[in-house]
Amino acid sequence: MSRIAKGRTVTCEECYFGRNLLCALALDEACATFRPDTPEGLRPPRQMHFVFRQERRRQAAWAFPTAQEQAALHA
Ligand code: SF4
Repeated sequence: MSRIAKGRTVTCEECYFGRNLLCALALDEACATFRPDTPEGLRPPRQMHFVFRQERRRQAAWAFPTAQEQAALHA
């Protein structure tokens, strides 16, 4: 199984939705819906994890992940 290096820029050509003609977006770059296309197909996203109070003070409680963060999550 190939892994996507953290911080590497991903493209729509690597996206499950793009490769399977399931994407209706006409964007110049990968979006937050990016999911890597794997031999097993589409894998469900990981469960969200708890953010404890001390950590939460320093960062927003939740934000849409970037395409690169999605790729790293599913790598
Ligand atoms: S990354 Fe977003 S825009 Fe690109 S193919 Fe996937 S779903 Fe479509």
